Amino acid sequence: MPLITTKAMFKKAHEGGFAIGAFNVNNMEIVQGITSAAGELNSPVILQVSKGARAYANHAYLVHLVKAALEINDIPIALHLDHGPDFATCKACIDGGFTSVMFDGSHYPFAENIEKTKEVVEYAHAHGVVVEAELGQLAGVEDEVSVDADKAHYTKPEEVFEFVEKTGCDSLAIAIGTSHGAFKFTPEQCTRNPETGVLEPPELRFDILEEIEKKIPGFPIVLHGASSVIPKYVKIINDNGGALKDAVGIPEAQLRKAARSAVCKINVDSDLRLAMTAGIREHFNQYPDHFDPRQYLAPARAYIKELVAHKIKEVLGSEGSAPAILELAKELK
Ligand SMILES: [Zn+2]
Repeated sequence: MPLITTKAMFKKAHEGGFAIGAFNVNNMEIVQGITSAAGELNSPVILQVSKGARAYANHAYLVHLVKAALEINDIPIALHLDHGPDFATCKACIDGGFTSVMFDGSHYPFAENIEKTKEVVEYAHAHGVVVEAELGQLAGVEDEVSVDADKAHYTKPEEVFEFVEKTGCDSLAIAIGTSHGAFKFTPEQCTRNPETGVLEPPELRFDILEEIEKKIPGFPIVLHGASSVIPKYVKIINDNGGALKDAVGIPEAQLRKAARSAVCKINVDSDLRLAMTAGIREHFNQYPDHFDPRQYLAPARAYIKELVAHKIKEVLGSEGSAPAILELAKELK
């Protein structure tokens, strides 16, 4: 089973009112944790690699880890570049076996974003690869992408039709109030849920999402910065020597609502980092004499698997959709 693009995934996700999880990968245990959960639940999955991940692990290692996952799990997998900063990085990934790339020109003026995105789209399409573009800017920090809250702005619905038409992009990342990182909002921006004690941010701007859907009906929309910063893992980290104070994510009920709409791809990175760190910290706290990496990476991988299974079932709704997507992907070839 070769890697596929996101075309069949997004078509089925849109029709079925679910979303595909896009999980960031940096090493073997993360790839294994994600794909074993997806494999057991018969769910498609997008494995995405950031510029930082390529610098850390090396492009070739990541591509081959993902190919190994394909040999072991009979599910549709797309390999995607997350936040491609320029044409050269996108080209390296297109030439190097990826099936999808994001070109993030969101910090450029509108016309320049169109021009640069179009250049990537033309090269990608000529090589059978799809392109995600971005309009509007999320706040927060993720790898080498960092945007101050005062520079962040929502996507303007009146711009999306022209942007999609002129660039020819295949999906569009929008800003409707999600944010990168594990500290998405200050406590002052949030209200504390009286039942759970968890800080909750202002609701996502579903009104903007609806306006965008009206302008480009059926077009696949992507949500970045969509980790929910699951309190369970934050608590394990803090109970075992960590110090993550007031980490805030996007409530899962809102993400589930988004998954039912034109949102076809939901990105998850911070939640993976938190789950992995929770597993390692908990293990070392329990067994201070352990020094075999397999001893502490196995529980970290198990938490990643548990987290991804939870996302597939409770947030994305993509469970069981793998066979239909594989079938459609063959037809679309
Ligand atoms: Zn992002």
